[in-house]
Amino acid sequence: MTSQRTRDRLVNRLREQGVVNELVLDVMRSVPRHLFVDEALSHRAYEDTALPIGYSQTISQPYTVAKMTQCVLANGSANSILEIGTGCGYQTAVLASLFPQVYSVERIEALHKQAKQRLSDLEIYNVQLRHTDGKMGWPIQSYQFDRIIMTAACSEVPEALTQQLVYDGIMLLPFDNGNDQTLLQITKTTNGLVSEALEKVSFVPLLPGLG
Ligand code: SAH
Repeated sequence: MTSQRTRDRLVNRLREQGVVNELVLDVMRSVPRHLFVDEALSHRAYEDTALPIGYSQTISQPYTVAKMTQCVLANGSANSILEIGTGCGYQTAVLASLFPQVYSVERIEALHKQAKQRLSDLEIYNVQLRHTDGKMGWPIQSYQFDRIIMTAACSEVPEALTQQLVYDGIMLLPFDNGNDQTLLQITKTTNGLVSEALEKVSFVPLLPGLG
């Protein structure tokens, strides 16, 4: 159930759903999603569905991971990306194959520690992880990122994040308006933030403070 054939089937499905970037599809084929979930669920790891990872959190659906990754790769080259919501570290691992420098923060310490161990077991070294509240961005205020990706839904765009985005940088986040969630692509321009609604999504909420 974790064979190359099963993974190829998932990639074909992603292609049919509009993921066209071959770099992204290659990474989706090669990152071992079954190692990011509990062993009891590994036979379902290449289904296109979110799965529980404990602590009331989920590993994102492969389509969503692929689509968001495709979006943050658009608009020219980017060196650094900050992820809010490491969770099990799967999206982090996908980003690590495509960006030279990946930073990711998580509010639940146990998930942060597990993700750290997993990424180190997979010999992924271009990632820095922190246990901190992602609403505050990366704990070192002076850092700025070419891309920011949030993998939990917020109802307002955290100010710290827009400050930590470079000009012409892109931030991708699920925005919850109280009824449903929309994936927003926000570009920081010298005239302010320009926001584009991409599609409906379903994420766990961005929670305040540390868990
Ligand atoms: N990126 C993950 C998705 C994890 S689900 C993947 O690849 O599957 C979203 C994660 O965001 C959860 O682990 C949750 O604990 C975390 N989260 C929620 N609010 C947060 C906050 N304020 N700061 C940091 N992480 C947060």
